[in-house]
Amino acid sequence: MMLFRGFRMVKKICIFSIFIILVFALYLNNSRVELTRSADAAGGIVKSATGTAPDRYVYYPGTENLSKNEIRVVACGTGMPASRKGQAASCWLMEFGNGDKLLFDLGTGSMANVASLMIPYQYLDKVFLSHLHTDHMGDLAPLWAGGWTAGRPTELKIWGPSGATPEMGTKHAMEGFLQYVNWDKVTRSYKITPIPGQLKVTEFDYKAVNKIIYQDNGITIRTIPAIHAGDGPVSFIIEYAGMKIVFGGDTVPNKWFIEHAKDADFVIHEAMMTPWQWVTFYNQQPQLAWRACCEFHTSPEAFGKIMSTIKPRHAVAYHFFNEEGTRYGVYEGIRSTYNGPLSMSTDLMVWNVTPEKITERMAVVPEDAWAVPGTAVQPPPQKGLPSPMTNEINSGRWLPGFEVQDKMLDKYRDQYNLQKQDWRPKMYEDLKKK
Ligand SMILES: [Zn+2]
Ligand SMILES: [Zn+2]
Repeated sequence: MMLFRGFRMVKKICIFSIFIILVFALYLNNSRVELTRSADAAGGIVKSATGTAPDRYVYYPGTENLSKNEIRVVACGTGMPASRKGQAASCWLMEFGNGDKLLFDLGTGSMANVASLMIPYQYLDKVFLSHLHTDHMGDLAPLWAGGWTAGRPTELKIWGPSGATPEMGTKHAMEGFLQYVNWDKVTRSYKITPIPGQLKVTEFDYKAVNKIIYQDNGITIRTIPAIHAGDGPVSFIIEYAGMKIVFGGDTVPNKWFIEHAKDADFVIHEAMMTPWQWVTFYNQQPQLAWRACCEFHTSPEAFGKIMSTIKPRHAVAYHFFNEEGTRYGVYEGIRSTYNGPLSMSTDLMVWNVTPEKITERMAVVPEDAWAVPGTAVQPPPQKGLPSPMTNEINSGRWLPGFEVQDKMLDKYRDQYNLQKQDWRPKMYEDLKKK
């Protein structure tokens, strides 16, 4: 009897152990799936101590071919209107397999990120503005002037929405921009060459629903109205190689987005911080905080609801300072209403989008990036432009400060065969005349 009871005990222990082993095996199997996935993402094992490493989790700009049916999206700004060293305001670079590169928004601080990708400026000449808040267009100046000084041969092309009145539209804003930078424009036009300092502005109807505003080289862009702080803001629907990317400008949940962003491959949409976070971190008054998050922007809960309704292949949340104090609250809000693929974006996050798969990585960029030359050559200085400097100022040049450079500049002149362009004889003649 004792023996039989002992046998039953052993049997029980055996069954229990098998159960434990099964659970453990299942767990191991699952973690192996995770590990395999990670290894795939990292590009596999390093096979040689002296050879190159396979792909990492990171993207090194300028080292990767794009296939014809591929779009690379780089977050060059994902933050807020208040400046922050670690996170610029809204800016999205889309690089297409056909060679085109389009910028969507150019918010305050974002050009440093764009420049760190070391893309020749000849390719960065098209900007699409979702609306005219400065956190979406505040860095136009460094692209306009920086690109001009670093090789862009053409004018800068801007697409942006109209407004309820002409004064609230993109044309008016860009005319005002050119007034603001007039001194810069006139002096650079004289010293460098004038064409790259010009803007070509295309203002489209902000009220149009799913109308084409751009179609070229296999890329089609449509807009739908957004609902934000006033009439004007839009969202962009970008189609290429059978794929649809939607970039939401600042907006509250709106019917046009639900209808036209449905089943998109890749959807970027704002997800604001919680009202408590606005109060705690952004020093907003409580009466403003809950309007800012949830009346003229989209809350995390609402972002999730939008995504679980339109069901994109991949959703990207932005427009919140992404840090320890905020990201969990924003994430929890989103996850309370959406359980699909999601990126909590921050600056220099990179996605490669193809019909087959979407990968997310971080770009690794230098702090001190130089502008990289492309094939384009800027037009020479334009002759006959009036000098923006009077003789009164010009003749104040101190001769010894110039003469001391002569030996060095002679060497340079001879090296580059600039005898005909030597500016010194005329300057010395003028200075000696006075
Ligand atoms: Zn805005
Ligand atoms: Zn904004």
